[in-house]
Amino acid sequence: MRSSYDCIIVGGGISGLAIAYELAKRGYKDVAVLEECYLGSGSTGRCGSGIRAQFTGPDQIVLLREAEEMWVHMSDELGYDIHFKACGYLFLWDTPELVEKAKHDVEFQNKHGVMSCIVDRQEAKEICPSLNTDSFLAGQWYDKDGMAFPFDTVTGYAQAARRLGVDILTTTDVVGIEGTAAHTFTVHTTQGNIETKNVVNAAGPGSKGIAAMLGVDLPYRLDKHQIMATEPLEQFLGPMLVKNSLYYLQTHRGNVVGGTDTGDKNATDIDSTFEFLTKFASEACEIVPRLAGVKLMRQWAGYYVVSPDAHPVLGPIDEVPGFFQANGYSGHGFMMGPIVGRLLAEYVADGKPSIDIEHYNFRRFARGELLTEKAIIG
Ligand SMILES: Cc1cc2nc3c(=O)[nH]c(=O)nc-3n(C[C@H](O)[C@H](O)[C@H](O)COP(=O)(O)OP(=O)(O)OC[C@H]3O[C@@H](n4cnc5c(N)ncnc54)[C@H](O)[C@@H]3O)c2cc1C
Repeated sequence: MRSSYDCIIVGGGISGLAIAYELAKRGYKDVAVLEECYLGSGSTGRCGSGIRAQFTGPDQIVLLREAEEMWVHMSDELGYDIHFKACGYLFLWDTPELVEKAKHDVEFQNKHGVMSCIVDRQEAKEICPSLNTDSFLAGQWYDKDGMAFPFDTVTGYAQAARRLGVDILTTTDVVGIEGTAAHTFTVHTTQGNIETKNVVNAAGPGSKGIAAMLGVDLPYRLDKHQIMATEPLEQFLGPMLVKNSLYYLQTHRGNVVGGTDTGDKNATDIDSTFEFLTKFASEACEIVPRLAGVKLMRQWAGYYVVSPDAHPVLGPIDEVPGFFQANGYSGHGFMMGPIVGRLLAEYVADGKPSIDIEHYNFRRFARGELLTEKAIIG
């Protein structure tokens, strides 16, 4: 570890690593990523792997549409197979009111270039032959949504960033940050101190604590979300299925991976529970009866970092020049990784991102300008 860098990124999840890679790609190579544990040990390595553009807020649709373009080419870009697959997302709606709402959402998404559509029960069964068509009235489908394998994505970004000269330091905990009179920072870590001009806070569940070191109060709560994987099965499922807070997909390895909400808001642990398993099993088997009797392989949990409008904080902090945020994503930060990487790198390197993300700035909370979004899963 050196004693100074142009930019320190706190957090070795998808956000921190994607930003580091995109900075180095732009020739901004004097960068170190500091990770307190192992790469992907935060929410990234615990997530459901889903990638979608079916949102209801215009800004979110635009960003995720752009992100999906990046995901398609990511394995080639990084020189590492991240197992991206455009398996599509199939939302299942089971009341006439939800179907009506979905029709409006589809119209809105289509206007913003996301060509989702409403499918009837028979069409849904053609997309996913294992579906129990009695368990829903209609579906909402977009074939460009998909999945990628989180640990391969982390490895791909980390290897590509290292090849370009980025230092990535694991088991390096940031324990304090001080601003200096010269608008630089001293970052205190368990491996020593580092001087830097810029700090990017991509610390996931630790981001509130990192911001507090510089007097910034990020208004986040941590919600526990549980998830499980079955034994590997022959490929049969097809799309990511979503019904209310239930979601699951089948990975390239054949495991069915998914979760459902257990209402653990403001959580202080990420312990796994049997209650989650029974809730997940009954909800999942109702829509795909074939899952009954399939063996569970493992279960785990992680944190959603939830802001007041369930959207991330991205960009600089007005009061602390050189301090950038990339955190607070709720349940959709994995899918945003590539586009956040690009736009935050542009902020740090060029002072301005190529897509306007001002409305994701921290100052929106003080101004009461919260973003709206109805399509939050979990
Ligand atoms: C069960 C579950 C399912 C999910 N499913 C999806 C999904 O299908 N699709 C999707 O897009 N998103 C999903 N998410 C959300 C997604 O996982 C996160 O939004 C995303 O991974 C955030 O990435 P990150 O890099 O910002 O944070 P993280 O991956 O949490 O990385 C932050 C890193 O910072 C490190 N850190 C923290 N404090 C310090 C410190 N003081 N010093 C050094 N390092 C520190 C942590 O160890 C961690 O590795 C899910 C989340 C959960 C929990």
